[in-house]
Amino acid sequence: MIEFQYSRASNVADAVRQMTETPGAKFVAGGTNLIDLMKMDVERPVKLIDVTRLPLDKVEETRSGGLRIGALVPNSDLAYHPLVERRYPVLSSALLAGASQQLRNMASVGGNLLQRTRCAYFYDIATPCNKREPGAGCSAIGGLNRMHAILGTSEACIAVHPSDMCVALAVLEAKVHVVGPRGRREIPFSDFHRLPGDTPQRETNLGADELITSIELPPRGFAENYTYLKIRDRLSYAFALVSVAVGLEFEEDNIRRARLALGGVSHKPWRNLEAEASLLGKLAGDTAFAEAADIVLHEARGFGRNTFKIKLARRAIIRALSQAARGMPQSHSDKRIT
Ligand SMILES: Cc1cc2nc3c(=O)[nH]c(=O)nc-3n(C[C@H](O)[C@H](O)[C@H](O)COP(=O)(O)OP(=O)(O)OC[C@H]3O[C@@H](n4cnc5c(N)ncnc54)[C@H](O)[C@@H]3O)c2cc1C
Ligand code: SF4
Repeated sequence: MIEFQYSRASNVADAVRQMTETPGAKFVAGGTNLIDLMKMDVERPVKLIDVTRLPLDKVEETRSGGLRIGALVPNSDLAYHPLVERRYPVLSSALLAGASQQLRNMASVGGNLLQRTRCAYFYDIATPCNKREPGAGCSAIGGLNRMHAILGTSEACIAVHPSDMCVALAVLEAKVHVVGPRGRREIPFSDFHRLPGDTPQRETNLGADELITSIELPPRGFAENYTYLKIRDRLSYAFALVSVAVGLEFEEDNIRRARLALGGVSHKPWRNLEAEASLLGKLAGDTAFAEAADIVLHEARGFGRNTFKIKLARRAIIRALSQAARGMPQSHSDKRIT
């Protein structure tokens, strides 16, 4: 048993005030990750500040034609929201590829962003882990690292960020709205999660005293040419070995705009702007797609048991781009492919 206090925040200002007054406290939303971590003695917050009653559960259109998604919107409600299904189907697909229906009913958007890695050593307090205990060492380097990162790794940590939703949010170039004792600010999605470097315990650029209030999607949703491809050990209820989110736009037969993000390969959803730029003006087809994949994986590094992911990621990128180009995210035949 660990002792901790519990209180319910009555409004956003109260949530921030309580957090500021109690260093070492944590917000709790669906609890599907944090409570597990507490049960396993990995996280020991002195206080849980329950944010589930805050009015952050709406999906609203913005004046610029985008969408504002409250931090407490459950993953399942978001996946099935008509505006998301119609305008941002890559986000629906990614959400529905994650966890199970029961978990998605509980899991919040804010909690999904901040879910922690699934590295087995991180959860096993009997083993060294720099993320859990800075300076202790990394058991996964040279250990069981089949699920681990191949891009953006460091000597300190090779863990991956396990979210599916975040890979789609990277492609959509979402913004994260937060509030803290110093006021409100917005964080571009590409700056939200961090690479491990020598501080793997710091996973995001969110302050410990800041609350996520919403995610904002810009108007561009890639509703016609998109895909979310998740490769995993079994067809459901498993984290990604590699996942790929794609959004494409065409001008006649040529690619006019391309976005590509990978999950399961790094400490953050992985985008490579050079690879995206390489697709512009090209005809959709395996030559262009393979070139983009090679750029993405140019600096990939395996650690033994996960080295297979480099080839797997290359194939997954090519397949995901092909599916998106066809406008048939899960299908195989098409005329557009050269
Ligand atoms: C068995 C299992 C399988 C899973 N499979 C997948 C999968 O395949 N793909 C996938 O993407 N995910 C998967 N998940 C993870 C799941 O999506 C996350 O646990 C969930 O999204 C976390 O949301 P939550 O609301 O429950 O967060 P919580 O557990 O309540 O909180 C998680 C973290 O976020 C913080 N937090 C929560 N809300 C806020 C806020 N508004 N502002 C600031 N901080 C906040 C908390 O303090 C905590 O640190 C799985 C989980 C389980 C248990
Ligand atoms: S990969 Fe990261 S989380 Fe896993 S043992 Fe190493 S330091 Fe810990």
